Amino acid sequence: MRPFLLEQFGNASSIHQEGQHARSAVEQARASVARLLGCRPAEIVFTGGGTESDNLAVFGSVRPGDHVITSAVEHHAVLHAVERLGERGVEVEFLPVNGDGVVAAEDVRRALRPNTRLISVMMANNETGVLQPVEEIGRIAGEAGVRFHVDAVQAAGKLGINVDSIGCHLLSISGHKMHGPQGTGALFVRRGTRLEPLSAGGAHERQRRAGTENVAGIVGLGQAAECVMRSGTQERMRGLRDRLELGLLQHAGGVNGGGAPRVANTSNVWFDGVDGEALVIALDLKGLAVSSGAACSSGASEPSHVLQAMGLSPDRARSSLRFSLHRQTTEEEIDRAIELVSSQVARLRELSAVTR
Ligand code: PLP
Repeated sequence: MRPFLLEQFGNASSIHQEGQHARSAVEQARASVARLLGCRPAEIVFTGGGTESDNLAVFGSVRPGDHVITSAVEHHAVLHAVERLGERGVEVEFLPVNGDGVVAAEDVRRALRPNTRLISVMMANNETGVLQPVEEIGRIAGEAGVRFHVDAVQAAGKLGINVDSIGCHLLSISGHKMHGPQGTGALFVRRGTRLEPLSAGGAHERQRRAGTENVAGIVGLGQAAECVMRSGTQERMRGLRDRLELGLLQHAGGVNGGGAPRVANTSNVWFDGVDGEALVIALDLKGLAVSSGAACSSGASEPSHVLQAMGLSPDRARSSLRFSLHRQTTEEEIDRAIELVSSQVARLRELSAVTR
């Protein structure tokens, strides 16, 4: 990214040499992201992040009078977009999930109506890591001839993704969830899928996203795609995640979504009798960064909509923390985390016993 931040400021839409150089870097990144998702480069639209990709997929597909099916555990980037459509004369349906946070594909089939325009179901949940049966839903969407959007922000870089195996028409990714730069993302748009752009302006990104491309950011996203394709499987991270859960379960009530298939880096743990936010702060002071609820909405004291949709009580949701690992997490860090959590959970439980 550095040359495009410090020395080379060509606009990828300009025809002079500087512009052509920027264009070539953007197209190289497009080819990398396309390879990551198993699609053609022309089917990749660069965006300003996962939220924008989700918004473009939802708002760009649906008109008043249409029907949209989504799930109750989507990220707010989809959930709030669909809710807004509901206020604008679109019929919307939020499918429930089971106790592990999984949508039943058959519920999607049952919810279909003649005017169903879009199905939007995520691949991996951001709070629990739980995987949805997107391939099964893709088959149902295909049989019904309904457009299918997958929010794969939490899956990209952690699981192999192939848009043809999933059978989706639209799929969102975000740079900063796969070691790329913040504020970058992409939307896969299957050839022939008409999409109304969110912004009016120039003809950038094949008229699907007006505005001068963020060349440095796009180059960073392309490099992140290359890196995750090179770095292979998640088995090491899965081993560390299991080690963490085993250690934490000595002090915890359970792993939320633990009975379902999950991505390897996320763990959502319930510490009965402990206030989640107090534990986040206590751990932060000791140098361990974890989150209660979704990081994107931290600061809000509402218990997580995902955990509540799974049938957890507001109290249990408030006593749950999300732990995220990354590619460079070490065994020593996991053991240190277990130690810190054990001591802080014990301290907070003692405190609440004294004040009760
Ligand atoms: N979708 C999911 C599942 C996410 O986890 C996130 C971010 O956490 C987003 C969408 C939004 O992505 P961004 O932060 O790039 O806007």
